[in-house]
Amino acid sequence: MAVEKCNREKLAVNCACTYSCPTRGKCCECVASHKARGEFPGCLFPPEGERTYDRSFRSLAKYYKK
Ligand code: SF4
Repeated sequence: MAVEKCNREKLAVNCACTYSCPTRGKCCECVASHKARGEFPGCLFPPEGERTYDRSFRSLAKYYKK
């Protein structure tokens, strides 16, 4: 199965994260960077959660609890 080359420009345009960082649009690096800090990427949060810049599991869970 051929692996499609990342289209960073397209990913950066569609990225929901409002934080200005060098991994914007480089999803694999973004996820690795957040994972290393025990966090989650901004695009997994709803807009009101994303804007807090709190990328912790505790913050993420607030938006997805039933
Ligand atoms: S993984 Fe990171 S770079 Fe990719 S869309 Fe989500 S927040 Fe943006």
